[in-house]
Amino acid sequence: MIVAEQKPLEEIKELVGEAQKVLVVGCGTCVTVCFAGGDREAQILASSLRMSSKLDDHPQDVTDLTVQRQCEWEYLDPIGEDIQKSDIVVSLGCGIGVQAIAERFPETWVVPGLNTTFLGLPTEQGVWSERCAACGDCLLGLTGGICPIARCSKSLLNGPCGGSEEGHCEIDPDTDCAWQLIYDRLDSLGKLEMLMKLQPPKNWSTSRDGGPRKIIREDLQLAEEETTN
Ligand code: SF4
Ligand code: SF4
Repeated sequence: MIVAEQKPLEEIKELVGEAQKVLVVGCGTCVTVCFAGGDREAQILASSLRMSSKLDDHPQDVTDLTVQRQCEWEYLDPIGEDIQKSDIVVSLGCGIGVQAIAERFPETWVVPGLNTTFLGLPTEQGVWSERCAACGDCLLGLTGGICPIARCSKSLLNGPCGGSEEGHCEIDPDTDCAWQLIYDRLDSLGKLEMLMKLQPPKNWSTSRDGGPRKIIREDLQLAEEETTN
């Protein structure tokens, strides 16, 4: 899932400024699961902004709504009127949700209420850990299902580095060394010989280094006459 955390209230207040009609929009998917920007968090933030604006002697009209997914226009369109009636929208979606609102409603000022942080998974109650850096050319098949790009502090493809110590990373001793994890897993599955195979250099053009990425599935695209009807 996309993991995010809410910005401090003071920062959100600064982003909202003097706007009179404020709409907080929550998102019902990833950021609900990581307790950052779902319905509950949208309600709490709206109420905090209302209270705080009263205390500041500048009462603002703050309401909230939550859609199932902010990153698809079909879920945003039904709340289009509420968005357009607002002076400002505080999106509690990830960075994609914020941009989806900005793109769909170009007349509306939208600001982020969250810091979008990484792609990860909940590893225990209240803890989320990074697992994927969306490199666009997955090599988990070579590394026993453990990602060295997201989980090694140096994103090494030929680790471990000389700083690995008793299974921990030299950058942060509280973090497992990804390459130790990879070695142990391949060892336990009897597949250590996989580490002996020479690999060609990774093609990073599929990652962010190649610029903004796009996937085009012609089999799913609508024919021109269908889009104009
Ligand atoms: S190899 Fe790339 S796609 Fe696969 S988990 Fe790591 S970052 Fe994500
Ligand atoms: S100690 Fe392990 S995880 Fe840390 S940078 Fe070195 S190889 Fe990567």
